[in-house]
Amino acid sequence: MEVKEKNRAISILKKVYHHTNTDYETQYKGIVGYKTDFLSEKEWSVLKKADLVPNKIEKYTHDGLVASFLKLGTNNKLTLDFAVNLFIKGLTGEFPRYRQTLISFLYLQNISEHTYMPSEDSRNCSVCGLPDEVTEDKTHNLYTYYLGHSWNEQPQCFVAELEDILQYSKSEMTEADKEILVKLLLLINQAHENETPSQLEKRIGKEKLLPKTDRYKRYGVLQTLAILGILPSEKERENLQPARSDIVMPLAGWRGRFGVNFKKAEEIFNITVPNMA
Ligand SMILES: [Zn+2]
Repeated sequence: MEVKEKNRAISILKKVYHHTNTDYETQYKGIVGYKTDFLSEKEWSVLKKADLVPNKIEKYTHDGLVASFLKLGTNNKLTLDFAVNLFIKGLTGEFPRYRQTLISFLYLQNISEHTYMPSEDSRNCSVCGLPDEVTEDKTHNLYTYYLGHSWNEQPQCFVAELEDILQYSKSEMTEADKEILVKLLLLINQAHENETPSQLEKRIGKEKLLPKTDRYKRYGVLQTLAILGILPSEKERENLQPARSDIVMPLAGWRGRFGVNFKKAEEIFNITVPNMA
């Protein structure tokens, strides 16, 4: 599937998945759908070809999702090298869809066979964080990834994400692609001691370093770096001033004084950061 054709499908989905276009008349398994009666036959065929037909609402169970993850874990295409390649290409803005895969991939590495274990404080499994049962609009979730968002929450969406990414191939990496990541890390490292993740996001936004991002998409990029330990984080929340409620751990536990773990970044991304001494 060509990127161009996918982008055509996404621009149609922008009209469907608009907050003014919800369809309260039609509930799908308890979830409010979106109106599609204005779509032309041509638009339907673009969506079908891209495998992005709206209102694809399905029920998922914890054990079914774990089985799907385990199956994905045996796929030889899903390697750290592939996920890292996609992340850098997503960062450049070439294809924002590529940003999510690294987080999903890292989650996949920690999944092993088990049955649902209830936890005291949430309706999610205490082993893996997946819900016991959940209803999701698969196409809507994929749509947010195609827009360039990435999240470490809602791991039930990672199965569809990883299955979808398998249709793409590793792209050729140029020095210019890697340069954006290096510049980002150097910029992060300029933080003052008490800088919070939201102040960091604003500073990056001001520099216009990351094409095709908004505040939330930049949080996604930073969250990925935090999960990798490249943005080190304090696990004890009590020691920190509360972060914005829309930022979750581990990124929420980062402060300017923790800086950047350049050694880790060089290892994972196969980059060289110029000596700053
Ligand atoms: Zn579990």
